[in-house]
Amino acid sequence: MRITLHRDRCIGAGQCVMTAPTVFTQDDEALVAFVEGGEHGADDPRVHEVPQACPVQAVVVHDD
Ligand code: SF4
Repeated sequence: MRITLHRDRCIGAGQCVMTAPTVFTQDDEALVAFVEGGEHGADDPRVHEVPQACPVQAVVVHDD
C-alpha cells in the first residue's frame, strides 16, 4: 500500500485523523501529515475509508 497526500487540497477538516489516527496527523497549519512511519498505512484497515471521508479528496490510497 502507498498513500499520497495532496496537501495543497487539504482544508484541515480532520476526518483523516479521526478515521485513522495511527496513520494521519495534522501539522502546525492543520494540514494533513503522516504520523512517523504512517506512509505505508501502519496496518490500519480504516485507511481505506479515508479517501471517502476526506471532503476534498486530499488522500489517495494505492493498493500495490
Ligand atoms: S480529511 Fe482531508 S481535508 Fe481534512 S485534514 Fe484530512 S486530508 Fe485534510
